[in-house]
Amino acid sequence: MSNGLTRRELEITDIEKIRHILDTSLVTHVGMVDGDEPYVVPMNFGYIMDGDKLTIYLHGAKKGRKIDVLRANPKVFFEMECDLQPFEGDVACRYGMAYSSLMGKGNAVIVEDVEEKKLALSAVMKTQTGRDFTFEDKMVSFVNIIRIDVTAYTAKCRPIPKK
Ligand SMILES: Cc1cc2nc3c(=O)[nH]c(=O)nc-3n(C[C@H](O)[C@H](O)[C@H](O)COP(=O)(O)OP(=O)(O)OC[C@H]3O[C@@H](n4cnc5c(N)ncnc54)[C@H](O)[C@@H]3O)c2cc1C
Repeated sequence: MSNGLTRRELEITDIEKIRHILDTSLVTHVGMVDGDEPYVVPMNFGYIMDGDKLTIYLHGAKKGRKIDVLRANPKVFFEMECDLQPFEGDVACRYGMAYSSLMGKGNAVIVEDVEEKKLALSAVMKTQTGRDFTFEDKMVSFVNIIRIDVTAYTAKCRPIPKK
């Protein structure tokens, strides 16, 4: 199976443009494998980029289907998008949407360490609000944190076509 983009000319490799997608996408859609069925959950997220190593953090309830699925199979595929802008054309097939998006795969780990949970929640709040927050031990005990260790990703930008 190909992991390269079919329309290679739209691929983004500039790290600042990749950060822009991570900073401005509000939601990531996390795909999982539930036995022999796909399962996709939209979630808010935070991220840490260390060199070219990308880590994504998710927060949520301690129980539920996605936790059960990830405990059984930690493999995930995720997607996020930003800068959505519909455009018109002279015929139906020239209508479309400009976007930037990022997709990747990785392994999900349920984080138990209190200090890493605080770091994760700070990353989520920074990505979602642009602001810095700190957390007490008690606050993090109520929430579940999932870390996605990203093993590969690609980014793409489809601009509005020139007339
Ligand atoms: C924009 C957005 C942002 C979100 N951000 C977060 C987040 O940061 N953290 C978080 O934990 N959750 C978030 N959610 C909710 C998330 O999508 C799930 O509903 C939630 O995480 C529970 O997942 P679960 O697998 O444990 O659900 P369960 O309640 O265990 O799922 C049982 C069944 O309920 C149905 N279901 C579950 N979720 C949804 C849904 N969203 N829409 C319709 N049907 C559903 C499905 O059929 C599923 O099989 C967000 C949702 C949206 C739309």
